[in-house]
Amino acid sequence: MSLDLTEQNQQALRILRSTFGYPAFRGAQAEVIEHLVGGHDALVLMPTGGGKSLCYQIPALVRHGTGVIVSPLIALMQNQVDRLREVGLRAEFLNSTLSVAASAQVQRRLIAGDIDLLYVAPERLLMPDTLALLHRIEVSLFAVDEAHCISQWGHDFRKDYLGLGSLAEEFPAVPRVALTATADERTRQEIVARLRLRHCKTFVSSFNRPNIHYRIAEKRQPKEQLLEFLNQEHPADAGIVYASTRNEVEATASWLSSHGRPAIPYHAGLPVLTRQRNLECFLREEGVIVVATIAFGMGIDKPDVRFVAHMGLPKNLEAYYQETGRAGRDGLPANAWMIYGVRDVILLRQLLDGGDGGEEFKRIEKQKIQAMLGYCEGTGCRRQALLRYFGEIMPTPCGNCDSCLTPVATWDASVPAQMALSCVYRTGQRFGVNHVIDVLLGATNPRLLALGHDRLSTYGIGQMHSETLWRSIFRQLIATGLARVDEHGSILLDPTSGPLLRGQQTLHLRFEPDLPTVKRKAKRVKRAGATATNHASTPTRDATGTPSMDRLREALASHRRELARSKNLPSYCILQNATLDAMARQRPQTLAQLRNIPGIGDVKLEKYGASFLEIIQSSP
Ligand code: ADP
Ligand code: ZN
Repeated sequence: MSLDLTEQNQQALRILRSTFGYPAFRGAQAEVIEHLVGGHDALVLMPTGGGKSLCYQIPALVRHGTGVIVSPLIALMQNQVDRLREVGLRAEFLNSTLSVAASAQVQRRLIAGDIDLLYVAPERLLMPDTLALLHRIEVSLFAVDEAHCISQWGHDFRKDYLGLGSLAEEFPAVPRVALTATADERTRQEIVARLRLRHCKTFVSSFNRPNIHYRIAEKRQPKEQLLEFLNQEHPADAGIVYASTRNEVEATASWLSSHGRPAIPYHAGLPVLTRQRNLECFLREEGVIVVATIAFGMGIDKPDVRFVAHMGLPKNLEAYYQETGRAGRDGLPANAWMIYGVRDVILLRQLLDGGDGGEEFKRIEKQKIQAMLGYCEGTGCRRQALLRYFGEIMPTPCGNCDSCLTPVATWDASVPAQMALSCVYRTGQRFGVNHVIDVLLGATNPRLLALGHDRLSTYGIGQMHSETLWRSIFRQLIATGLARVDEHGSILLDPTSGPLLRGQQTLHLRFEPDLPTVKRKAKRVKRAGATATNHASTPTRDATGTPSMDRLREALASHRRELARSKNLPSYCILQNATLDAMARQRPQTLAQLRNIPGIGDVKLEKYGASFLEIIQSSP
């Protein structure tokens, strides 16, 4: 028995090396694989980019039969299958995009035992014909990808996922593994219960994504800020920009395009074909920016997304973590950048106070929104705060977020906060931020004069500060709950603001840089570079070294582009960036040396080895 196990473990390692070209398993991969090969069920929680795919692909290959992967996204199946074929595996999918003939062909090959891995959407899997087909063949395992889609609480709920529990009775002898990058405890329990996983072992990895740099700034001129960020730090990179409405998506995409960036919109209001085309373009071309609502992103496994930019607040930290997590799957440095302003805070706050659903549901939603605001307004390490929210303690600050690299200065804002709150009170708690700020600044617009607000004692008392600073103050008052917003957008005093108004409590707020009227207390720490940092655990892009190394890297990338174009595949399907980086750095001279570069397995060596070697050898 133990002999068998050792033999199977060695076989798993052989597949990792020969097929995928990686020298060793990462994190929990080896354990998960052993558990599944042994015929047991598992729940695997790993962050995006953690290496979930190998956790089911390898045991499916070690065991007899075909591995069946349940995946919610038909649009991405072709891509997943292409990547597996590139390493020489026999992968197929069954979904509604296949012609009758193509689908019959897949069925014949399944029955003949000619398919290693089969991707299928849940609704297709549960159709009687498909189940009957699977009963005729040997299934090595079932993998349920994006397993959190089974949770009715989550934002990705899929009704068809609920039916997957029946696999427990239909195929009692086949091990099943559920995988997700969504961590919270309730979702985990729900997955195990609804899928009826047996002898289930749960594997939880750290959710830290050390290569992602987190940064949040105040929103002022959103489009200009975005463009500046992109031009300075990502002049040619692929990335995702999240905007909250369809109009904002369209406007931002055309703004970027008009400034010379290849940007395409993606939202649920676009025709299906346009959406599909835009998705393909993002996956296949290099350096494309997709501007999207949250309708975009789940299951996207493009490894070289270098940034995720948020033009406003996501509605909770789960969403923020998932969305930012789509950057840097390949482990190379990536940016999670966000801007938000008082309007975004008001919108979230209104959600918090309004909303329907049961009391319990509302209470949980409130905690989530509060946590999101707390994260943004916090002054400590972002990564520590984010991981803490998911129940993970990180003992020291990360060194790769804005708070760590540019410690946040705070200032005593007690007096301006009193002014702001008194002005809210004097204007009758019936007006929005803009009007209250107008009163503070002593504006003379007709509406204000008609209301007689120029006669209030708070009229013009705030002229020593800029409008920007007032907006920042209101944003923080609302975020911290000292002020509230009703469903019409009017600002109200919260009872907790009493002590501050009476001068019994002081208030320190974040200092927002570039506000000329206040003096900074903390010193700015200069960042080492655009994305690279000097923190030990942060990977840096290693191919940028000498000029000749850079030239070689560029030549390799251009060859990869040609190959990708001729095969109509995304570049990363041919070879990933980290593999090109290592080639440029190590300059292998023989096929045997090339084979030692991570990411080059037997099939890739045979297909592409010689042509890449030629480039390396002819490079000065
Ligand atoms: P996930 O599905 O968890 O988001 P993937 O399975 O797509 O992650 O893997 C993320 C990246 O890590 C891929 O580029 C993959 O090739 C790489 N990877 C996975 N396992 C290993 C390993 N053991 N060694 C080296 N690279 C790995
Ligand atoms: Zn940090």
